Amino acid sequence: MKIFSAKPCILHFKCIKCNSIIDIDNKSLELDYLKLNSKIEKENNLIVSDADIMLIGLCNKCREDENAKTN
Ligand SMILES: [Zn+2]
Repeated sequence: MKIFSAKPCILHFKCIKCNSIIDIDNKSLELDYLKLNSKIEKENNLIVSDADIMLIGLCNKCREDENAKTN
């Protein structure tokens, strides 16, 4: 099976508090993404060639800051 030659998944995380952006690079996530990709292609009759996924939330540092505040 030929997997895309181009990078199949670009996954980023953006912290809503400090605005830092973390690139998430994880091989097992990539495999899950490819499965999701083919499901989306089949169900919507599309061809997906790339992805740019932005997750939003609190980074590790800000999460610890929040915890320190509430404790
Ligand atoms: Zn942060």
